[in-house]
Amino acid sequence: MSEIYDCCVIGAGAMGSATAYHLARNGKSVLLLEQFEVGHENGSSHGNSRVFRLSYEDTFYVSLARAAKPMWLELEAQSKQKLFYPTGGLDLAEPGSPVFQDCMKAMKAEGIEYEVLNASQIRSRFPQFHINDSMIGIYQDDTAVLNAVECVKVMASLACKSGAVLKENSPVVGLKNRAGVAEISTGAENYRARSVVINAGAWANGILAHLNLQLPLQARKEQYQFFAARDPDIFKPGKMPIFLEYGCGDTDIIGMYGFPLLEMNAVKVAAHQRGPYIDLSERTFELEVDGAADVEQYVRQRFGDALGEVVASKTCLYTNTPDQHFVIDKIPGHENIILSSPCSGHGFKFAIVIGKMAAELATEGRSSRSLSLFEISRLMAAQS
Ligand SMILES: Cc1cc2nc3c(=O)[nH]c(=O)nc-3n(C[C@H](O)[C@H](O)[C@H](O)COP(=O)(O)OP(=O)(O)OC[C@H]3O[C@@H](n4cnc5c(N)ncnc54)[C@H](O)[C@@H]3O)c2cc1C
Repeated sequence: MSEIYDCCVIGAGAMGSATAYHLARNGKSVLLLEQFEVGHENGSSHGNSRVFRLSYEDTFYVSLARAAKPMWLELEAQSKQKLFYPTGGLDLAEPGSPVFQDCMKAMKAEGIEYEVLNASQIRSRFPQFHINDSMIGIYQDDTAVLNAVECVKVMASLACKSGAVLKENSPVVGLKNRAGVAEISTGAENYRARSVVINAGAWANGILAHLNLQLPLQARKEQYQFFAARDPDIFKPGKMPIFLEYGCGDTDIIGMYGFPLLEMNAVKVAAHQRGPYIDLSERTFELEVDGAADVEQYVRQRFGDALGEVVASKTCLYTNTPDQHFVIDKIPGHENIILSSPCSGHGFKFAIVIGKMAAELATEGRSSRSLSLFEISRLMAAQS
């Protein structure tokens, strides 16, 4: 065993590649271990579209997203690659929706500008949408599409350009921590590092088991479908915003969401937090038929026959916490080992700032932004 790295990052999805990117940029020696290859489609960070938005029901997330935006734009400039596509966003709901109301309050508190539109204003501005007279909308200009897999690849490659060592097809199968030095085993190789950031997404509990810890993190298999547009022009960015609809059945949170015509030259629509909870060892890649039918019915209702047949679909994993807040914290009893599991289906937009927070926590023992919302203790309390 040779070098002791400043930090070993386990997992090169959105969070791991962002963490390695910040660590390497700050001159740390970094080992980035990935069980598959960067850009694979087995986890949570694949595909070419994720929603970036400031409209959140909690001021903490509004300010975190606002901090992330210039960092995504800086990443674009550094890589000379288009990653962030401003489209504007339309949040739809029935007036009484509590979460929707909270979004307006939180954005107002953070000084974020937005417009409230009634049904006829929505219809005249965005004629694609078939909506009830009672519905209202929030239009927010900062909403954008992040090209997910390209963001991941760019952050991983920039980390390597800054000296990080990336080992793909290197599943971590062992983790010991002695006297402030961690020993990480991939079966084929053994490594040492002064700190470790566990960015293993839905597989996090598999790594935590080596430290005799398990947390209530649940893998949920979600899916998205791409619909052909009869008149593609009216669904293009500039004419069609990203949309999120609150409610949709027995929930107050986002029920359905979708994107203008970008990826697959079709319109992507999906349900949020609707897929089955799964055991990763039994994970399949087939579409859930009932879930797909629900989304197709929604598309008929919301867009009539302006959207046609499904031309493609994919599955993807959420890693849910019970309260759908993230986990970014030191492992109890292991000051130098950090768990950074920010997902619950809404983590991507924050990846570039969360990567920085996790990198600071690993190498400086504290983050420049508050992590009180993301502490492990709240989950351990929930288990006991
Ligand atoms: C369908 C869908 C839609 C979404 N839409 C949005 C959206 O619009 N906006 C938004 O902000 N967020 C969205 N999200 C959430 C967002 O994509 C995730 O929060 C984010 O991608 C999580 O990244 P991650 O790095 O934690 O997980 P992952 O990308 O899964 O990365 C974990 C990595 O760890 C690796 N790994 C695991 N175990 C080991 C091991 N033992 N050894 C080595 N490597 C290991 C895995 O192979 C994987 O590459 C969505 C998620 C899904 C599934």
